Amino acid sequence: MSLKELEAKAIQRLKAFEPETEPYYLCYSGGKDSNVIRILADLAGVKHDIVHHHTTADAPETVRYVRSIPNIKISYPEKSMWQLIVDKGMPPTRLVRYCCYELKEREGQGRVKITGVRWAESNGRKESSDVVKIIGKPKTTQKYAKEIGAEYQVNRQQGLIMNDDNDKSRRMVEHCYRTTSTMVNPIVDWTDEDVWDFLKHYGCKSNPLYECGWNRIGCIGCPMAGNHRYTHFRIYPKYKNLYIHAFDRMIKKRLADGKETTLWKSGEECFKWWMEEDPDQITFDDLEGA
Ligand code: SF4
Repeated sequence: MSLKELEAKAIQRLKAFEPETEPYYLCYSGGKDSNVIRILADLAGVKHDIVHHHTTADAPETVRYVRSIPNIKISYPEKSMWQLIVDKGMPPTRLVRYCCYELKEREGQGRVKITGVRWAESNGRKESSDVVKIIGKPKTTQKYAKEIGAEYQVNRQQGLIMNDDNDKSRRMVEHCYRTTSTMVNPIVDWTDEDVWDFLKHYGCKSNPLYECGWNRIGCIGCPMAGNHRYTHFRIYPKYKNLYIHAFDRMIKKRLADGKETTLWKSGEECFKWWMEEDPDQITFDDLEGA
């Protein structure tokens, strides 16, 4: 498909699911995909609020870049990443990403969200997302889907995913979005090349971190960034210290709560383990019993 055809398809998807009574909730991370959906929403002429969730562990370049986006709404969390680590009693890991839920995904309930999710970037690919994804009250949503004959499949997260923008899918979204987390993913089938070509075509100046070799924009120290974290902490040593202090406080709180742990005795030890071992081997339950 040519870029123009991809663009037209994405615009058609955005128009198809536009809520009647309020603007879309456009999830803006500061990365390349969120710039694409921001431009597409303007091209489609759909009403939308552009919302960025500040995580407190964002790179300073991202914070400055996001502030430069016109009409952006920046949402600040009640608790910082460092406080969350203490409260949760374990560092965030690839499998236990409580930080994403608490810092990025909690708001926007009852709104139809536009996301920049793409198969090319997500591990679960087609099994976890499609053009529309609905999470929440699985029994109720499945029952309604059956009633109206909407085509869907259920994934591991108990979400319903639909791959087209026909009338039945539209009715599903209209019926469900107030009580579920409903996401429209207009560029789900775009490749990296499509994204960069599109941004170039529209003269979009991207987050400067891409010029420094980053290929994903996320928090510094994000467990999803794998070995790139070593580079991140070399460039931003202050954030390394913030994690170590948070882990120190986390261990103290665990001890105060009577939750002894043999895994780490200090923030430094915990940080080393977090970087070098496979933290996904443990769960909250393991920690409780440690
Ligand atoms: S981007 Fe990574 S570190 Fe940041 S909130 Fe999401 S999972 Fe957590």
